[in-house]
Amino acid sequence: MRVLVLGAGVVGVTTAFQLLKDGHEVTVIDRAEEVASFSSYANAGLVAPGHAYAWSSPRAPAMMLRSLYREDQAIRFRPSLNPELWLWSLKFLKQCTAEKALVNTQQKSRICTYSQPLIKEIANETGIPYDANDGGLLYFYRHAKTFDFAATKCGILQKEGIKVEVLNVAETIARDPGLTDAEHEIVGSLYAPTDESGDARLFTIALAEECKKRGARFLMGTTLKALESDGNRITGAITDGQRLSTDQYVLSFGVFSPELVKNIGLRLPIYPVKGYSMTMPVKPEHTPPTLGGVDEDNLLAYCPMGDRFRLTATAEFAGYEVNHKPADFNVMTRKAREIFPDAADYSKPEYWAGLRPMTPSGLPIVSASPIDNLWLNTGHGHMGWTMSCGTARVLADLMAGREPEIDASAMSYQSC
Ligand SMILES: Cc1cc2nc3c(=O)[nH]c(=O)nc-3n(C[C@H](O)[C@H](O)[C@H](O)COP(=O)(O)OP(=O)(O)OC[C@H]3O[C@@H](n4cnc5c(N)ncnc54)[C@H](O)[C@@H]3O)c2cc1C
Repeated sequence: MRVLVLGAGVVGVTTAFQLLKDGHEVTVIDRAEEVASFSSYANAGLVAPGHAYAWSSPRAPAMMLRSLYREDQAIRFRPSLNPELWLWSLKFLKQCTAEKALVNTQQKSRICTYSQPLIKEIANETGIPYDANDGGLLYFYRHAKTFDFAATKCGILQKEGIKVEVLNVAETIARDPGLTDAEHEIVGSLYAPTDESGDARLFTIALAEECKKRGARFLMGTTLKALESDGNRITGAITDGQRLSTDQYVLSFGVFSPELVKNIGLRLPIYPVKGYSMTMPVKPEHTPPTLGGVDEDNLLAYCPMGDRFRLTATAEFAGYEVNHKPADFNVMTRKAREIFPDAADYSKPEYWAGLRPMTPSGLPIVSASPIDNLWLNTGHGHMGWTMSCGTARVLADLMAGREPEIDASAMSYQSC
C-alpha cells in the first residue's frame, strides 16, 4: 500500500518507521527543511510514564483563573476572541472532574508504558544515538503540602504498574548528587526508576535517516495547502508545487492538524499550548544533575542531555505564535539557579518556544477517521515524545487490520 504521512515531527517519523516495517511504500511530507523542526525540536526530553497525569483535573480551572491576574504562574491562560480557544476550553473544563481525571490518567499511563520500551527497542534495532539517560526521573517538591498530596496521588500510577518511590530529602540527594545544592530548597521527591530521558529531535532525525535507508521518501520544504476529497475518500493532496495522490493518508501535523481537515468536515479538538525551553552547554567544571526530572512546584522540567543541560517551563494558552524574548526565560532561570547553580553555562542559552498539541482529555487521537483512507495520529500534547513509538505502532496495527496490543478505543476519533 502507498501511504503519505503528513508531518515529519516525532509522531510522523515514528509512524513512517512502523509503516515501513509493515512493508508499505511510504512518503513523508513537511514544510520544514529538516525533520523535527517544530514541536519536536527542543522539548523537555522526558520519557515519563511516571508523570502521566491528565492536565484536566479538579485543580486546573483555579490554576487557569489565577493566571489571569498573576504574571508569575507556570500556567498562563490568555483570553482572546478566538472561538477555537473557547470551544477547546469548554471541552477541557468538562474533563476536569475527579472521575474524568482518573480515567484519563489511567489511559495516558497505559499508552506511555506501552510506548516507552518501543523507543528503546527501536534505538537498539537501529543503533540510534539520542543522548539517552535511563536511570529514572526525579519529581521533587519545595512545599510539604504539595509533596504530601503528590505522594498520595501517585497511587493512581502505582496501581497501573508504574514504579514510583517516595523519597525524603537525604534519599533524593543520594539518588542524584546533582541536587546537593538544593538540600534546603526541597522537601522530598517522587522517584520513577523506570522513567528515562533523551533528545527527541536527535532520535527523530536519525530515525528519518533509517526510514530513508528502508525506502521512504521525504518531501521536505513542501507545504500542504489542502486535501481534496470526494466525500468518502481523499483523492489528492495539494502542495505548494504539486498534486500528490496515493492510497492512504496519515495526519500528523501536530497543532496544525485541525486546520487542514476543517474543509473536509472533520473537527479535531487540538489547541496549541506554548512552552519555553533553554539549552545550555555543560563543561567539565559544571555539576549538572545526573537524572532528569521536574521541579513540581514551579512546573520546571530539567534534563541532562549529553554535554548539554535543558530547562523547560510554562504552559501558555496564547495561540500559534512561537516568538520569544530573553525576558520570557527570567523566572525559569532564577528558579533553576536556586537548585542547580553550577549545572551548566547559563550565559550561553539557546532559547526556544514550542507548541504542545493538546486535546482536552490529554489523550492523543490515533484512529481511522470518517474519511475512508485518512488516518489520524495527532494531538499528543505534553507527552508526544513519550507516546510517539507506541501510538505509531497502534496506528500501523489499525491500518493493517490487526488488533493493537493495547485498547485503542479511548484514542478514537469518535471519543475525542
Ligand atoms: C516546551 C515543551 C516541552 C515538552 N516536553 C516533553 C517531554 O518532556 N516529554 C514528552 O513526551 N513530550 C514533551 N513535549 C511534547 C512533544 O514535544 C510533542 O507532543 C511532540 O513533539 C508532537 O510531535 P508531532 O510530531 O505531533 O508534532 P510536530 O513535531 O509539530 O510535527 C508536526 C509537523 O507538521 C508539519 N506541518 C504542519 N502543517 C504543515 C503543512 N500544512 N504542510 C507541511 N507540513 C506541515 C510541521 O512543520 C511539523 O514538522 C513537550 C512539548 C513542548 C512544547
